[in-house]
Amino acid sequence: MVNPNIQRINQTLRKVFLTNKTRKIDWRYSQLKAVKKLVTENKDEITKAVKKDLGKPDFEIHQSEIAIILAEVDDAISNLESWSKPEKVYSPIHFKPSTSHIIKDPLGVALIISPWNYPVNLALVPLIGAIAGGNCALLKLSRHSASTGELMFRLLNKYMDTDCFSFDYEGGAQYITDLLEFKWDHIFFTGSVNVGRIVYQAAAKFLTPVTLELGGKNPCIVDKNINMKLAAKKIVWGKCWNAGQTCIGLDYLLVHKSVLDELLEECKAVMKEFFGEDIKASTSYARVISKQHTERLSKLFNNGKVVIGGDADIETNYISPTFIVEPDLESPLMTEEIFGPVLPIITYENIDEAIEFIQGRANPLTLYLFSRDQAIQDRVLESTQSGSVMFNDVLLHFTNPHLPFGGSGDSGIGAYHGKLTFDTFTHRRALVKGTTNKDTSTTTTTTSTSISSPK
Ligand code: NAD
Repeated sequence: MVNPNIQRINQTLRKVFLTNKTRKIDWRYSQLKAVKKLVTENKDEITKAVKKDLGKPDFEIHQSEIAIILAEVDDAISNLESWSKPEKVYSPIHFKPSTSHIIKDPLGVALIISPWNYPVNLALVPLIGAIAGGNCALLKLSRHSASTGELMFRLLNKYMDTDCFSFDYEGGAQYITDLLEFKWDHIFFTGSVNVGRIVYQAAAKFLTPVTLELGGKNPCIVDKNINMKLAAKKIVWGKCWNAGQTCIGLDYLLVHKSVLDELLEECKAVMKEFFGEDIKASTSYARVISKQHTERLSKLFNNGKVVIGGDADIETNYISPTFIVEPDLESPLMTEEIFGPVLPIITYENIDEAIEFIQGRANPLTLYLFSRDQAIQDRVLESTQSGSVMFNDVLLHFTNPHLPFGGSGDSGIGAYHGKLTFDTFTHRRALVKGTTNKDTSTTTTTTSTSISSPK
């Protein structure tokens, strides 16, 4: 049986969309400004709520939940006019005097499903795209980050035009299943590969286009030709940011055997520098989202030899940064996405072994390589596939709105950020403006040689 509440929301949003209210540029500006106002006026409350859910340090919250959203919304406000303007394109000679154009049409009513790990960012950035594109939307916030979900639900209802948007944060798996029973004009899902498959199958029934921002296991290759101190700093930072609960986080390392000991020593030193002697007492280190995930992560300690960390406190959702060598390749540590501060390390002697290891697995969302060797960089780039690649750095590609952010193969479908978010929520509709003064059909049939391509 269909969920009557969702049915009512779906139908109401569609009716509103058909009034053309959301197509108006002034409305889009007002809603983009409302997002900006929501975030700027409530920074402290947002920080408190995210801290309650994930124990993230203030700096992390500011960078990932506030600053990125403000940059994206400012970008959309500055460029909305140029992004949404129709483009006039070349018309072949047999079209003349007709003209050809591309209209950036809204898609209609979008469904956005966001996860708990960056509960503000991953909800609002897609919403910015839906607004800029001129759509209505239902935004489903995660209930796992309950404090943030509750706060965002209240704020969104206060700041946004609730005729055109609907919000929910309480529903779980059943609610999402119910949502997928209805026709949406685009589904933007951020979550795991498994649920991504369910969303894709449900969307197929209505031929609904999807953006699937998924996860997976991101490899990080560490060559011997590197600045070890710097590499260790970035690896520890990339792994410990949000306690490893980051879709582009480093899932496992492939390390040149000759530098393993040195890398481990440097990583231990960096951890001390970042978090002090007692990591658990550090205010710079986040917590795991729930007891269930803390327990799951602590069980991974048994899938190899722990060489750094290995501490867990289920009651306080604490998992220390834990590095594990000689991981069992058939165990969950190496077959499932870790999504926590546990880092398995595999050694190799020849770069081909590392490449083959990656080739034999699903395309990751991001592939990291630490190497000064240009030949190795080229070799890794041309022999692998992934949503994105970073040489000698971690995570930062997410923050550049000029780069597409999305997966490849199992790690997702589609990409967003910057103008691409606008493109995701619009349809490039072809429009030919014919003339009533000239019979072009006669011209075309009588002068077939006049069909030419653009010069
Ligand atoms: P999830 O896929 O487990 O859950 C997503 C939503 O689906 C939740 O609201 C959940 O209640 C619901 N759900 C669970 N089982 C379902 C079912 N059988 N049918 C219908 N709905 C169901 O993901 P999550 O725990 O919210 O987030 C973590 C995952 O998200 C990780 O895999 C991570 O890599 C990924 N992620 C990806 C990105 C990205 O941008 N690519 C960003 C953040 C997180």
